[in-house]
Amino acid sequence: MRPPSVDALARSLADTGLPHPLLVDVAREAIAAGDHDSARERADALRRRLLQPVVNATGVLLHTNLGRAPFAISNDATYANLEFDLETGRRGSRQAHAGRLLARLCGAEKAIVVNNCAAAVLLVLAALADRRGVAVSRSELVEIGGGFRVPEVMERSGARLIEVGTTNRTRRSDFEQAVDRHEDLALVMKIHQSNYKIVGFTEAVGVDGLVGLGVPVVADIGSGLLDVACPWLPDGPPAWLVDEPAAKQTLESGADLVTFSGDKLLGGPQAGVIAGRADLVDACAGHPLARALRPGGMILRAMQELALHYMRRDHTAIPFWAMAARTTTELRARAEALGVGRVVDLAAVPGGGTMPTVEIPSAGVAVDGDHVAALRAGNADRPPIIARVREGVTELDLRTVDPADDPSVAAAVRALG
Ligand SMILES: *Cc1c(COP(=O)(O)O)cnc(C)c1O
Repeated sequence: MRPPSVDALARSLADTGLPHPLLVDVAREAIAAGDHDSARERADALRRRLLQPVVNATGVLLHTNLGRAPFAISNDATYANLEFDLETGRRGSRQAHAGRLLARLCGAEKAIVVNNCAAAVLLVLAALADRRGVAVSRSELVEIGGGFRVPEVMERSGARLIEVGTTNRTRRSDFEQAVDRHEDLALVMKIHQSNYKIVGFTEAVGVDGLVGLGVPVVADIGSGLLDVACPWLPDGPPAWLVDEPAAKQTLESGADLVTFSGDKLLGGPQAGVIAGRADLVDACAGHPLARALRPGGMILRAMQELALHYMRRDHTAIPFWAMAARTTTELRARAEALGVGRVVDLAAVPGGGTMPTVEIPSAGVAVDGDHVAALRAGNADRPPIIARVREGVTELDLRTVDPADDPSVAAAVRALG
């Protein structure tokens, strides 16, 4: 039996919209703390811990903590031809839809979608290099955020890492030696230095320099830029997009497989793509781990939508590219129109562990003082707004804000007083 006061207190919080069992929990906690009045605050805190939309005013386009690329996933409660061939009426493959379109986009024979790029790398290694050697340059034994360390992933996959060259210099001859010395060499792998740069006395082998060694070349390009020419952008590639490897050109230069993320520069949902030679992709798809790493219908549907947007060259339908392509003139005009704070020029960044030295000219509003906590609080009328503070000034970068959220941003800044 719960004391009636718990129940009454929980009921008095019904307007928070939280289900009764959760309100009972917060009511109990408040009573146990000897502070009935804290129940509403506790309920609010509980609601803030639920997954919910936020406004990203940080200027970090692929903000890992805010879900990297924003992308709509529509989910009707209907059946779909996920693994059903509407032509033959027989069992089909869940990789036949988005996979086929993505292959077409990057000029690959075949492609499959898995849960993320870490899964893509793991699957490639497990399927193609089990208990065999994989040669990687010592300059590319990277750690991506969130504990993805190439040497550890290799170990887990069952492949054996063969380190080649030195931290700053690796040549084709180093790979040739690895081929000569290791009879069981299964692959050579090139891993994009997504989140760091080695400068100074350096030498590296491009994908074209790894071709012809007698083993397949796998390139983990990470970020998922499809094509360096960015044909989906009306004005071509933006000035800040320099030296970023793209799936199409990496395959053209001789890679047998590429792996990349769905939610970095590709601008889609969390996913990973393996694209390239059909026999190698089939070997990955047929490996028992593929079953454990396969995405659900919602993600595959979203990846299909994304691929169709790319084919239509409609960057405005891909939120990441819509944000990336905004002009500073446009952003300044929006900042003026907010009618709050000072209009300032800012520097946005790609984020997501990509292009560590790149800044994207941007604009927004600035307010003296540190107001990030108040903006983050959100309320019934507006979502939490995530801003940053620099030298005692709160900055809201509009490049990463959906124009539809501008009124919320204006209201929130006005409310700061
Ligand atoms: C980001 C990245 C990964 C990991 O991708 P996730 O989709 O986050 O798993 C792997 N390799 C490279 C080179 C990357 O940049």
